[in-house]
Amino acid sequence: MPTVVATWPFGQTAVRAALPLLRQGRPALDVALAGAQAIEDDPAIHSVGYGGIGNSIGTVSLDACVMDGRTLHCGGVAAVENVRHVAALARRVMERTPHVLLVGEGARLFAVQQGFPLDTLLTPESVAEWYKTRPKPNANPAPNPRDQGHDTVTVLVLDQKGSLGGVCTTSGLAHKLPGRVGDSPLIGSGLYVDDTAGAAGATGVGEEIIRISGSFFVVEQMRAGRTPQEACEAAVRRLSSVAVRRGVHPARVAFLALDVKGRVGAAATSRTNFQYAVSKGNKVELVQAREIDAEGK
Ligand code: ASP
Repeated sequence: MPTVVATWPFGQTAVRAALPLLRQGRPALDVALAGAQAIEDDPAIHSVGYGGIGNSIGTVSLDACVMDGRTLHCGGVAAVENVRHVAALARRVMERTPHVLLVGEGARLFAVQQGFPLDTLLTPESVAEWYKTRPKPNANPAPNPRDQGHDTVTVLVLDQKGSLGGVCTTSGLAHKLPGRVGDSPLIGSGLYVDDTAGAAGATGVGEEIIRISGSFFVVEQMRAGRTPQEACEAAVRRLSSVAVRRGVHPARVAFLALDVKGRVGAAATSRTNFQYAVSKGNKVELVQAREIDAEGK
């Protein structure tokens, strides 16, 4: 059954924007990109695209990646400034370069060459929010990711032909250090999609997700025969056990997965309060993910 899923309550906007393309029979990646772009364009969402919260010096710096489950074709951009549609830019990296990941100034130059407009991504509201939430001057120069505001949109799609595609796009952790790159543009961490196993995406503290190659881990669990739900729970358990080994409490992290049968799964660490949006025919539902504590229960 063709399906769209997207992270967080604002994922409902993504699913609604994606559904018409799904119905038209468009490939999974086109559908996922339309969903992600609706979030990038929404200035009310302070964690993705236009209106995203600035880094520690108030600059909006975006991360994104895309992956096609048919071919494992993928592309990403990281730490990009002044480009709103970074998911589309990641797709151009995939389609028009021999590379997988472009960063910073190089990614912005590529955007200009590809005809993407440069613009400010700040809005009066996001600037006000930045001032309200920024760490006090003279605080620890590296903000603790655990304390920062975040919420990435990951959109996973099973299309009418039974193929998977995924897109992940974010402004990353609010008040991050300039140059900080999270999990979201990294294939295998923020996103991984393979028609022969399944699709997975992550949200939450990117440093912890990178440490376990989170999305790849979820997909490989599905390849080994686990359902999407079991695979996401296994990833949260792995992340939690690593946190315990490091002597820290597991950070806020969630995983979302979809397989070629249209089965959906999600799991999060405790107190993440992770919800995701999922299409049911022409309708969109919001689902609360299961939370797993530091003991793995
Ligand atoms: N994973 C993102 C990052 O670390 C943030 C988030 O999803 O909340 O940049």
